Amino acid sequence: MWIVPESAIGGLVDDQSAFDAVEATFAAMAREDAYNFPVVREALGEGRQYGFKSGLDRAGAQLGVKAGGYFPGNSAKGIINHQSTVFLFDPDTGILQAAVGGNLLTALRTAAASSVSIAHLSRPDSKVLGMVGAGHQSVFQMRAALRQRKFEKVVAWNYHPDMMDRLSAAVAEAGLPFEEVSLEHLGAQADVIITITSSPAASLMDAHIRPGTHIACMGTDTIGKQEVEPALLARATVFTDEVAQSISIGEAQHAVAEGLVTADAITPIGAVINGTHKGRSSAEEVTLFDGTGVGLQDIAVASKAVDLARANGSAIEVAL
Ligand code: NAD
Repeated sequence: MWIVPESAIGGLVDDQSAFDAVEATFAAMAREDAYNFPVVREALGEGRQYGFKSGLDRAGAQLGVKAGGYFPGNSAKGIINHQSTVFLFDPDTGILQAAVGGNLLTALRTAAASSVSIAHLSRPDSKVLGMVGAGHQSVFQMRAALRQRKFEKVVAWNYHPDMMDRLSAAVAEAGLPFEEVSLEHLGAQADVIITITSSPAASLMDAHIRPGTHIACMGTDTIGKQEVEPALLARATVFTDEVAQSISIGEAQHAVAEGLVTADAITPIGAVINGTHKGRSSAEEVTLFDGTGVGLQDIAVASKAVDLARANGSAIEVAL
């Protein structure tokens, strides 16, 4: 089997290869060539969470699981709070093929998901990117989004204003103007909005959003989190990575619980990639992507990392 250490990932998988892997995965899911197994998520006490996201891609001959969780005590020990590892198996024999560091890959595959939605659903003339959230993931989200449209400016709002420095520095590094704004001003200017927070209640309201906006809701990946008002999902055309996750652990859980949206009104983004759904139908339509994060995304980018690491000699071979 092969080991690809966390420290090697940054030199292997870039935004474009993550985009390609995730786009192909969403397409395979919509063709029913690939499916995710039910998510396991357990509270371990003292704020610790642990879970498993797994799946099988028959077309890509990939079987695997991401084991990972959130350990709030880690930062005091100088370790990242989110920790994960991806394990890949031979789908014909079940033999373990690789163990791959999953921390950076999680950020890359999550940013790839929103950027796939921007590529397929936002207006091609989008000029202003709005960011709601300024935590660890926000920088990856912003950078991946900038590759999809000719954005001229980034505006941002964060619940904790003191956290804005990291995102504003990354925007400056990308060579674009940056403005910290209220949610009203963000919605009034942005053509594309990414929400990436751990919020337990809606920040972005339906009234903030102007016609033609594309919103990628990326922070809500578990029961009880919420970033946007359910009325916004009722107004928007809603797309997702996987409908089952969207209505149970994704942003749509709240709109579905309130009876504002039904599962059959939510379209897998893979259908747009495959051309079986037309995607955006007008320049006025509000589109919303509910990115819940599926195991197949992790498997796809980890497989890419293994291929690249074996090709450049950075994969470590061990006998199990
Ligand atoms: P982080 O801890 O670095 O940042 C948290 C962000 O949430 C900050 O912007 C913070 O200000 C904001 N926030 C915290 N409490 C809030 C509140 N009450 N109201 C509004 N905003 C609040 O986290 P991160 O690593 O950037 O991750 C952000 C979110 O994305 C987390 O919820 C994480 O679980 C989720 N996530 C989703 C996926 C996916 O595939 N969908 C993948 C990775 C992470």
